[in-house]
Amino acid sequence: MSTETSPLPVAVLGGGITGLTAAWHLHRANVPVRVLEAARVPGGVIVSTRDQGWLQESGPNSMLEGSAEVAALIDAVGLNPRRLYAADSAKNRYVMRDGRLVAMPTSPLAFVGTKLFSMRAKLALLGEPWRAKAPADVEESVGAFVERRLGREFLDYAINPFVGGVYAGDPCKLSVTHGFPKLHALEQTYGSLIRGALKRRNTSGGPKGRILSFPEGLAELPQALAAGLGERVQLGQRVTSVRKVAQHWEVTSEKDGRMVTENYAAVVCALPADVLAKLPLVDVPGADRLPELGEIEQPAVTSVFAGYRREQVAHPLDGFGLLVPEIEKRRMLGVLFSSTLFPNRAPDGHVALTTFVGGVRSPELAHLDDAGLHQLLREELGSLLGVQGEPVYYRVTRWPRAIPQYTLGYGRFKAIFSSVEAATPGIYFGGNARDGISLANCIESGRRLARAVRTGMNSPT
Ligand SMILES: Cc1cc2nc3c(=O)[nH]c(=O)nc-3n(C[C@H](O)[C@H](O)[C@H](O)COP(=O)(O)OP(=O)(O)OC[C@H]3O[C@@H](n4cnc5c(N)ncnc54)[C@H](O)[C@@H]3O)c2cc1C
Repeated sequence: MSTETSPLPVAVLGGGITGLTAAWHLHRANVPVRVLEAARVPGGVIVSTRDQGWLQESGPNSMLEGSAEVAALIDAVGLNPRRLYAADSAKNRYVMRDGRLVAMPTSPLAFVGTKLFSMRAKLALLGEPWRAKAPADVEESVGAFVERRLGREFLDYAINPFVGGVYAGDPCKLSVTHGFPKLHALEQTYGSLIRGALKRRNTSGGPKGRILSFPEGLAELPQALAAGLGERVQLGQRVTSVRKVAQHWEVTSEKDGRMVTENYAAVVCALPADVLAKLPLVDVPGADRLPELGEIEQPAVTSVFAGYRREQVAHPLDGFGLLVPEIEKRRMLGVLFSSTLFPNRAPDGHVALTTFVGGVRSPELAHLDDAGLHQLLREELGSLLGVQGEPVYYRVTRWPRAIPQYTLGYGRFKAIFSSVEAATPGIYFGGNARDGISLANCIESGRRLARAVRTGMNSPT
């Protein structure tokens, strides 16, 4: 099969960042493509809303421009002049210890003086380069890995809050192999995280991992991708089944109450795991195992964007935000100082805070009713940041299934994707349940999917 001989387009199921990136690369390579997206707007969980001088991110708040792939995509869609890097004043990252906020050390000197870790923990860290590495085939939890290499205090006060902030997850459940493959690779390649990090820093020529957004929020990126694709993005079109028929694929979807069945040359699945688990894939060998994807843990997270007059908040908000270690037994995962991080997120004289509640640690808190959530915020922000009085702007976003947890044994889910792809050429899986959860991972996933489709089209069937 080649592009010329196949008049049928490629179907991309799901118009989140993964699907849009895949479709955009295919379109650029002159491969006919359609994105079928259930929602009325593109972007998936990326939702940026400008309202009365506030700019709220309901889902992701920032992305790391850590790979050439991400930087190249931003340039290629014309967003280069709209890059907005995190403010210098957002360098501090606070972590709570013994009820107080302590800035995470950012230099060796600051590490020596920090109150975040005891002297004993600091000394223990010095021994890291000499600790034996684990056998390559042993799958450890992030918790076990970090405790073995860096010590318990490091797990409790650095990695636990970090994992809470990134995955809304529990490091003792996440697999270091699948959830943090770069960390795992550092130990395997260099025998030490410290040695590996120093070597990488000296040799890597790629873009530095800067934190990025755009003046009107992250949604500018999916909007630019969708604009580049034009009518090839079909919104409000919910895919209900996929069938393999002889040389092509039939995709059935529902649009405005009407069922439509269309033929495609190939199918790219960039859907959330729980949707894929329920999607009938007919006459596709191995697809009977897809329902197992429903077992992927995806805990609820609730995000609260709250705006205050500057004088209502005692804390200087001189940082990225704060993270709360589980051991501190509070009722939130962390708070982003949104109006410090990027400009124009709050009207003059005001500040914006985004608080995350729930996750693996305490999913029940994500389901608190509005009154309970409001009370929680009042108490937690009051005691931690000296916030007084009622917010002048307040929006709650509930994510019933926020982020897939790459738990121990996650390889079995990845193997399902691989075995279906291997058994039936022409179907491809990507997105945050397979290729990593960050926006950068999803952009790389979209690129990988587009390459795989083109390789498949050019190989004999
Ligand atoms: C609250 C939250 C905060 C986050 N914070 C960050 C952050 O700060 N930085 C970061 O890098 N990452 C962050 N992430 C992770 C990152 O945003 C996601 O992993 C990533 O956006 C997922 O993109 P995706 O395209 O794979 O999936 P999705 O965005 O989930 O897109 C899937 C798409 O499929 C569509 N769909 C579903 N069912 C159907 C169907 N039947 N037919 C057609 N379409 C369908 C959906 O409407 C959706 O548009 C966060 C995630 C959440 C939830």
